[in-house]
Amino acid sequence: MNLYKADLHIHTVLSPCGDLSMSPLNIVEKAAAVGLNIIGITDHNSTLHGPVTKKLAEKKGIMVVYGAEVTTKEDIHCLCLFENEEQRINFQGFIDSNLPKIKNKTSIFGHQVVVNENEEILEEIESLLITGLNASIDEIERKVHELDGLFIPAHIDRQKYSLTSQLGFVPSDLKFDALEISRNISLEKANQTFSYIKNARFIRTSDAHNIEQIGSNPSTMKMEKLNWNELKLAILETCGREVLIS
Ligand SMILES: [Zn+2]
Ligand SMILES: [Zn+2]
Repeated sequence: MNLYKADLHIHTVLSPCGDLSMSPLNIVEKAAAVGLNIIGITDHNSTLHGPVTKKLAEKKGIMVVYGAEVTTKEDIHCLCLFENEEQRINFQGFIDSNLPKIKNKTSIFGHQVVVNENEEILEEIESLLITGLNASIDEIERKVHELDGLFIPAHIDRQKYSLTSQLGFVPSDLKFDALEISRNISLEKANQTFSYIKNARFIRTSDAHNIEQIGSNPSTMKMEKLNWNELKLAILETCGREVLIS
């Protein structure tokens, strides 16, 4: 088995709260500099920066996971991760058809721009990306699993936009693949706090909104090779694969 350093929750300049320096180019440069092997591109309610980041990361031997940090109808953030372009396009269609058409106010929320590999702006997204979709957490979970993706409720220990803040607990019938914990909680405390969850598997990520945060609070994936199937096994902690966090 080999060890791969992963950061599966990174925002880009497309997220209104993402720093303007968070271009795919800068993200890949920083990921390489801090020794990341796997990065997840997870903007709020958008998967659009996945492909350009993948193109840039391939040159550095870094694996890119497509994804989005979706806001559910209940205002719960969930990481939805995918392997390939077909799944990404399908899931983007699901987001587009469920995103309320509320115009972004750039002076309040910030810009939502799509850029190319040379950091040139291609498009500015009009609809505010941080609103809750017209889909419940269970509907989103079903869609992600129908597409064979990974469904990971985000920063479950946080007092904002999490299972804990919105529902007060992690429902026993929610079909998650793992649970993300923030940098603010120790593993020991997480094990105590969420001891009522059967087979809880935790991952850590940076939830980076600026360049400096990339690679902080990492997870190490113990797996055979650098590919999606192995990553899935590690997150599901099966077949000798696992996620190592401290
Ligand atoms: Zn979040
Ligand atoms: Zn986030």
